[in-house]
Amino acid sequence: MSEIAALLESSAAGRRLSYQDGVRLYREASLHDIGQAAHRRRSDLFPGPEVSYVIDTTINYTNVCNVHCSFCAFFRPEGHPEGYTMTHDDVLARVKWSVDQGATQIMIQGGVNPDLPLTYYVDLFERIAREFPDVDIHSLSTSEICGIAKRERMPIEDVLTTLRAAGLKSLPGAGAEILVERVRRRISARKIDNDRWLDVMRVAQRLGMPTTATMMFGSIETDEERIKHLDVLRELQDETGGFTAFIPWYYVPYKTPLKGKETTGLDYLRVIAISRLYLDNFAHIQSSWLTPGMKLGQLALLFGADDMGGTILEEKVVTLAGNTNSASRADLERTIRQAGYVPAVRDTYFQKRDYPLATPA
Ligand code: SF4
Repeated sequence: MSEIAALLESSAAGRRLSYQDGVRLYREASLHDIGQAAHRRRSDLFPGPEVSYVIDTTINYTNVCNVHCSFCAFFRPEGHPEGYTMTHDDVLARVKWSVDQGATQIMIQGGVNPDLPLTYYVDLFERIAREFPDVDIHSLSTSEICGIAKRERMPIEDVLTTLRAAGLKSLPGAGAEILVERVRRRISARKIDNDRWLDVMRVAQRLGMPTTATMMFGSIETDEERIKHLDVLRELQDETGGFTAFIPWYYVPYKTPLKGKETTGLDYLRVIAISRLYLDNFAHIQSSWLTPGMKLGQLALLFGADDMGGTILEEKVVTLAGNTNSASRADLERTIRQAGYVPAVRDTYFQKRDYPLATPA
């Protein structure tokens, strides 16, 4: 047996990959072999017929941002005529529209807007929690949390405790990009550094707020830096166990200052597969269909992903970067069935919801 075949075999059986072996596997295994090993691992962890998805929406409540990442086409700097911030009534109207379509997860996420005080978020979350008690507020990136803490001169823990009391239940893993300083300095020099991202996650998880983790790949990072990113996440998960899922998605370059080329479908599938094998302490790997589209998102289900993500009823950040993909509940369910699985609606915490499917079996 070759060394690569031996690594595939042991990681498919659930044994931990070292960083060096992770890099080797990522680079040297054939796509078919790494996909097969990842699918085997996923099937051992989730032997049932179901693939889950969540009915969710993303409300981009402000595009004003003082961080100015070069890969971002969504933000407008402070004072820009196209800058906007939604009123609470605007956000609540969008929440209502989404809930009317079955949404149980609301992601409120936007720029790091220095004009918005903590009370903007507290009042907003309290209203949502009061008017829509059945939805999970899964909102705010680590950068937004740090922006609020800076503006209010408060420790992260106090900000999170206050927001949690107002109704914030969990945090998305946004803003991670690649947790390697060289990359962050090049693509988001004004963003919080790696340690700060990890600190926010650590504190949130300690306070009892589950979080997801993400990776935006395909900008300027190397293969080693992709695996380093996974390694950093795996280490924190060893410490806290607080991540519910990992969501790798790729950079959409078309309308951003950074520009560049869109990554390939083969690269996307390889990242999904190595994520499943390397992140041996993460239960769920999501197919991030929003950037690669439904067809590649479907293939991800055979390369290690066990979850189809969400409906993302409304979203602007990757759309403004040139992304054109969208999907209805029926599309997601059809895609899951075509891959040989049974669709199931879940909540934010990956618990199955007793909720009717949009399409007949
Ligand atoms: S990615 Fe987020 S933090 Fe960076 S510029 Fe865009 S909105 Fe601001």
